[in-house]
Amino acid sequence: MGTEYDVAILGAGASGLMLAARLERRHSILLIDGNRSPGAKIAVSGGGRCNLCNLELSTDRYRADPDFIRPVFDRYDQNWLLEWVGRRGVSWHPEAKGKVFCDREARSLNRLFERVIPPEIFVAGERIVKVEGRGPFRIIGQERSYRARTLVVASGGLSFPKLGASGIGYEIAESYGHRIETPAPALVGLTLQPDEFFMKDLAGISTEVEVRVGERRWKDRLLFAHRGLSGPAVLNASLWWKAGEITIDFIPGVFPDKLQGNRQLTTLLPLPKRAARAFLERLGIPDRPVDRLSDPHRRRLQRLKAYRFAPAGTFGYGKAEVTRGGVSTREIDPYTMESRRQAGLYFIGEVLDVTGELGGYNFQWAFSSAAVAADALNGTLE
Ligand SMILES: Cc1cc2nc3c(=O)[nH]c(=O)nc-3n(C[C@H](O)[C@H](O)[C@H](O)COP(=O)(O)OP(=O)(O)OC[C@H]3O[C@@H](n4cnc5c(N)ncnc54)[C@H](O)[C@@H]3O)c2cc1C
Repeated sequence: MGTEYDVAILGAGASGLMLAARLERRHSILLIDGNRSPGAKIAVSGGGRCNLCNLELSTDRYRADPDFIRPVFDRYDQNWLLEWVGRRGVSWHPEAKGKVFCDREARSLNRLFERVIPPEIFVAGERIVKVEGRGPFRIIGQERSYRARTLVVASGGLSFPKLGASGIGYEIAESYGHRIETPAPALVGLTLQPDEFFMKDLAGISTEVEVRVGERRWKDRLLFAHRGLSGPAVLNASLWWKAGEITIDFIPGVFPDKLQGNRQLTTLLPLPKRAARAFLERLGIPDRPVDRLSDPHRRRLQRLKAYRFAPAGTFGYGKAEVTRGGVSTREIDPYTMESRRQAGLYFIGEVLDVTGELGGYNFQWAFSSAAVAADALNGTLE
């Protein structure tokens, strides 16, 4: 079987790359990925521009245990990340809602990692199928097996299988006694039940809405799609939606009981005309000047402010930006990312039960958790 490495990193995505970049070179390191090139998701992220992080970083933006993620962000926040990439030649700029994007294409971040990680540590195209042992770990791939004193699982979630995603991280965690919070696609579009199929005819139309799931609400764009509903407001809602109803205000800022004048409803409502017409038809409201609306019609109009319905499901892992759920953080030390069940076993990034909203929060988590693990490993490995 050959060499025993100090550290094997399973997954050369955002978190695995940051860890490899920050581990001191005195360690013998292996960075293993099933893909031929590292950082597949970084390359396509943010529509090819990479939404690196968010200036308004807050634990509220995550579906996670705040007590677990807070100490990580206390040490490694957005300012650290921006300085780290900036010093290494990746310039960036903020946009709306605190989102920070790379000035150049997302691949500029991949190139940063290529510059700082020695190419010889990267084992490309090796799909890992199993891990055995308790330090040294035996990491079994389709091609070969590897031995390492410590193993860092940075294999991400189940989203975008075409970019290399697999459930190996959960399988490894379970085999060492970890609990897995049920994974599900998140930051993904929602499909519709037959009652709402009329919205499919609006595919391509986008409008400002407020989506509510329980106590949470997002004011942002909604996009009608052939399969259902998409756009940032819906994607964020999908992070929290399980089953049951969501509520959408399709006319934010407009209050039906206050509407008056002789303009037609379809010109007055803040919806694209075709969408306004479809909703009025659905609710049985005639398109007439508001002053001539009957009281029952006005009351029906209220439904546009709080349109409640139960989505059928999601567009699935093939379209989901992230996977919510994952390795329970209860058995992970937030000051090191080490398993509390197995010494020498670490978990970082999306494989953990930490999922952020849209806006750069997921890369932030991947990079920050990796930095914490790097400190721990640099401190403990001789
Ligand atoms: C289309 C898209 C756009 C996105 N845009 C953004 C954005 O702009 N901003 C943002 O914050 N987040 C974005 N995300 C989310 C972000 O990419 C992830 O949250 C982040 O990459 C997670 O990092 P990670 O290291 O945990 O996992 P990943 O980056 O997914 O890396 C995991 C790696 O493990 C490898 N792997 C998995 N299983 C195996 C196996 N069995 N054997 C060997 N290797 C394996 C994979 O090939 C992969 O390279 C986007 C996601 C997608 C899909």
